[in-house]
Amino acid sequence: MPGKEDPDLLKTYREKRDFSLTPEPAGGGTRSGKGIFVVQKHLSRRLHYDLRLEVDGVLKSWAVPKGPSADPRDKRLAVQTEDHPLEYAGFSGSIPQGQYGAGTVEIWDAGTYRNMTQKDGQEVSMADALEKGHASFWLEGRRLQGGYALTRTQRGWILVKMRDGMARQGIDLPADEG
Ligand code: MN
Repeated sequence: MPGKEDPDLLKTYREKRDFSLTPEPAGGGTRSGKGIFVVQKHLSRRLHYDLRLEVDGVLKSWAVPKGPSADPRDKRLAVQTEDHPLEYAGFSGSIPQGQYGAGTVEIWDAGTYRNMTQKDGQEVSMADALEKGHASFWLEGRRLQGGYALTRTQRGWILVKMRDGMARQGIDLPADEG
């Protein structure tokens, strides 16, 4: 679908921030056309990893306290947060004290992804998949590769590595970095 972002999708993002004080992007609304993803290591009040997937011109976002694992046995809580502008995928730096998310952001992984969600043999769009509470996608990043699934539960979303050739038992990526 060509066209600009739906401005309402970024309303919450913009309301939370004062762009005269934070170096984060306000967003202009261009699509990358590639299906980008990013994981940002965010050291704020509590360390977490922000997973963001390009869907319909914005970055759908989840805060993953323990970060993504390469081991399909690990179920990672993923708390959905407000949609971010596409430009945020390139953001790293320091968010000043007193601002929302104050702390440091570094790009932990980035690349492209491919939607793998199907129902009854038919592809389901990422927007529809997330609306219905289950999406699977193939990541092509430096650290993260292969299929991952996000599933909404009563306690929040769960992120898991799918069982495929890129799964690595016992490899918990963030924890193994030390
Ligand atoms: Mn964050």
